[in-house]
Amino acid sequence: MRIKQRLFVTAAVAIAAAAAGLGPVGANAANAADVPVDAAVTSVVQNADGTITETSYTPAPGVSPADLAQRLRSRGLNAKAGTQATASLAAASACSKGTARTWPSSATCFVRWSYNGAVRPVIDFVDGSGASWPVGRSVTKWNQTSGIDSIYRTSTAGCDGAPAHCVHVYSYNYGDTGWTGNTSRTLNSAQTYYTQAVTELNDYYGGTEAQKWNTACHELGHVLGLDHNTSTTSCLYYARTSQQYPNSDDYSLLESYY
Ligand SMILES: [Zn+2]
Repeated sequence: MRIKQRLFVTAAVAIAAAAAGLGPVGANAANAADVPVDAAVTSVVQNADGTITETSYTPAPGVSPADLAQRLRSRGLNAKAGTQATASLAAASACSKGTARTWPSSATCFVRWSYNGAVRPVIDFVDGSGASWPVGRSVTKWNQTSGIDSIYRTSTAGCDGAPAHCVHVYSYNYGDTGWTGNTSRTLNSAQTYYTQAVTELNDYYGGTEAQKWNTACHELGHVLGLDHNTSTTSCLYYARTSQQYPNSDDYSLLESYY
């Protein structure tokens, strides 16, 4: 385990970009055969108060990203498949390290969690999932990132509250939704900070312990601000695998921001 250190935080460079992710419902989805390895399925909701809620979905086994996006659209969601809307940002060197990438907004490469007066940002992952989901072990792995504290909390213990940010992790049989997990994040109106996040894990598709661990690790990585990793050595590869851990690039990229 690495020793936690306060790192010098460089100012994030805000890059103006077109909000391509806010396009109309029904934009053409890529053919399954054309889906790149870093394909993402996302939906976007603009809230009345100026904040924006984005959700990233992990396709269930046998479901292509394009098919999943179509299913989400049929439920009325503004969903699309393909690389993230701001893929050009993600390709910029500041937004990636090795095979790891940040989950950008239209305003910045890296959307942050605030310090709230603490030495490091603190994320309380409140585990409301069933025992078959290795959420606690995933939190432990992510907490090896210096500069940001990932804390495991049982649902009984609940969230500590400020300065900790409370992120609830749920599991449920959501049915044949086409996704095994999803993470929603709500951003401030400037799209530079997370204001909240929540993760849902779907019991419907079952899976081995390693596969469920993979999904838990994956979704928690999105909570921390990472997008898909192009390597199957990371749990943030876009599709479900049996890889249970982040790879070193995931840690390095986060540590370059916190
Ligand atoms: Zn994902």
